[in-house]
Amino acid sequence: MSAPLIDKYRKMATFDWRKLKAAVEGEEHVRLKAEVVAKMKSEPIFHRDYRVLSREEHREVVHQRWKKIVEWGLFKDPYSDLENFHALTETLEAYDQGTSARLFLHGNVFGAAVKSMGTERHKELVEKIENNEIVGAFCLTEIGHGSNTAEVQTTATFDRGELVFNSPNVGAIKCWAGNLSHSATHVVVYAQLHVDGKNEGLHGFVIQVRCPRSFQTLPGITIGDMGSKPGCWQGVENGWMEFKNHRAPLSALLNKGCDITPDGKYVTSFKSASEKQSVSLGTLSVGRLGIIAKGMMACTFASTIAIRYSVARRQFGPEKGVENEVPVLEYPLQQYRLFPYLSAAICIRIFQKTFVERFTEYMMRVMMGEKSEELSEFSKEVHALSSGAKPVATWLGVESLGEARKACGGHGFLHMSRLNTLRDDNDPSQTFEGENFMILQQTSNILLGKVRSLGSIDTPMSTMSFLNKNPSKFSSWTSNPVDDVLSAYRYLAYHLLQMTASDAQKLKNSGKNAFEVRNEIQVHRAVNLSVAYTEHTMIDWVQQFLKDVEDVTVKNVLQKVINLFSLFLLERHLATLYITGYASGGKFGEELREKLRLAVAEIKPESMALVDSIAPDDFILHSALGASDGRAYDHIMEEFRKYTNEQPRWVCDLAQFLQKRSQHAKL
Ligand SMILES: Cc1cc2nc3c(=O)[nH]c(=O)nc-3n(C[C@H](O)[C@H](O)[C@H](O)COP(=O)(O)OP(=O)(O)OC[C@H]3O[C@@H](n4cnc5c(N)ncnc54)[C@H](O)[C@@H]3O)c2cc1C
Repeated sequence: MSAPLIDKYRKMATFDWRKLKAAVEGEEHVRLKAEVVAKMKSEPIFHRDYRVLSREEHREVVHQRWKKIVEWGLFKDPYSDLENFHALTETLEAYDQGTSARLFLHGNVFGAAVKSMGTERHKELVEKIENNEIVGAFCLTEIGHGSNTAEVQTTATFDRGELVFNSPNVGAIKCWAGNLSHSATHVVVYAQLHVDGKNEGLHGFVIQVRCPRSFQTLPGITIGDMGSKPGCWQGVENGWMEFKNHRAPLSALLNKGCDITPDGKYVTSFKSASEKQSVSLGTLSVGRLGIIAKGMMACTFASTIAIRYSVARRQFGPEKGVENEVPVLEYPLQQYRLFPYLSAAICIRIFQKTFVERFTEYMMRVMMGEKSEELSEFSKEVHALSSGAKPVATWLGVESLGEARKACGGHGFLHMSRLNTLRDDNDPSQTFEGENFMILQQTSNILLGKVRSLGSIDTPMSTMSFLNKNPSKFSSWTSNPVDDVLSAYRYLAYHLLQMTASDAQKLKNSGKNAFEVRNEIQVHRAVNLSVAYTEHTMIDWVQQFLKDVEDVTVKNVLQKVINLFSLFLLERHLATLYITGYASGGKFGEELREKLRLAVAEIKPESMALVDSIAPDDFILHSALGASDGRAYDHIMEEFRKYTNEQPRWVCDLAQFLQKRSQHAKL
């Protein structure tokens, strides 16, 4: 084989990838991640091959890795040490989402729920959570209810100073809770609270489910495992749990804003059931910000592996003969299939980082005890944007891995490419913490609520202000495609908002109830509205970020990246842009596509350095096709040769069978 072509492609770049990495991620983040990787490399338990593990092996290795991370003391609370938290999160998420799930389900889901819904009464427990003296799981979903959380069927009935938990029917059995099957000693469980014969609605509780020494379940609790799952989820103990008169102390109630008095009276400071529910389930919206990063990570892996492999892989050339074959990356079609996800990896990262910074600012104000109109508007805006960005990012992420796998041809299908496994790993990000189509409704509901104040919308992050003006139609392209794309998005979102609101009004006037109206405005209306609003904000924030980049070469290449990302996203709305009257005739669409093709072509010389700027360390990437040395064939063969191909026992049976067939044929 000739020397890898990868270096030739690296030299085509107009910028230094290290400078771009530092500008996008921050030097400290890059340094901290490298420290975590170095620690992992030094421990044999983190070394791995491409062998497919059994469920038991997978879970044991996840447990051992989790133990090591806990012993290292690397896990930090995001609000006390944001930088370290992000470095560890990103590295672990890239390494193996199963390992990170074990850690974060305990600290950031179970632990965060206890902290946000609990009070002084739960202080001792919080200390145990932080010291990893116990293992937690988060049990909201039931066999019969996932999205419709308000209707979960588990009951917690106040009885003689205690709480009695029951699963009244099969649909009420808790399921999907990670860490539950074997490890959890404690869980946050959601149930309908019954006091004095009255259902007070959905509440969060924290209960012990197992003895931390014998790991036997406590009386009245049955726990089981949900069986095999694809990808890294095989290593996650998603369990089910059934209650039969399980008795827990009253302190199990996570009693922020509500309680049961010693004489058995339910008291609450919540003004409405929806206020209580938003506190009970508030922890979930924080998780959505993290899940946006899963979409970014998926695009990162997809483009790193597929673009590096596309340089190693040579096929047809202008002339006959192997020496004339060109890397498949040279085909504009291959570039068109892969480069948009490379741009998405960078742009989603910039957007998510900006969002986390703004969210942290919001959380700090909440933690300082501020209560203001502006802060509640801030919370609404965070909710609208996170509920839109989680679907947009995770759909792009899963899509990118599917496209990358196909773009790598047959070898992409090998387990050692990691692309199919990564696709499986990322698949449920589209479902958990709010099924994507479901949570897009949160975004559109908030936007629809703004219709009456059009003209004076003023939100803390200014993501909705553009809706105040009726934007003009397309006239011509300017020299800045991103500005043009943003103008088109403004038109799109504004008109989708008008169309959705007007449809809702018509349906209401025709006598439909609120439930019917909400359902009937989704297709082609509310869903597209949420996506358009979110993508506009993403592109806008990335564009704003660019203004502060100092290095000219980095700025120039990032501009190319944003051009591609914005044109790629907008092209998906071409039909709706025409339907809403943004443009007529073929000119706008044809020019948009031409600009998109040009934006793709402009990325080609920069592509390998861009990949280097986003690619995780080879140890973390763990892909025979995507290694940074560009020697995909060598790595593939190295792996093939490990399969010694000893003759299996059944080959004797095959030989006998063939012999019998041939004797039979001769008769
Ligand atoms: C790998 C994995 C890990 C998980 N971990 C946990 C965990 O640790 N703890 C936990 O409690 N749960 C966990 N879950 C459960 C997860 O949170 C739920 O699966 C998720 O909330 C979706 O709910 P569901 O499965 O009931 O979907 P459903 O609500 O049944 O949705 C089915 C379909 O109906 C659609 N739909 C539903 N309602 C509407 C509507 N109003 N309008 C339009 N369409 C609608 C949805 O979009 C979806 O396409 C996990 C799930 C997975 C896959």
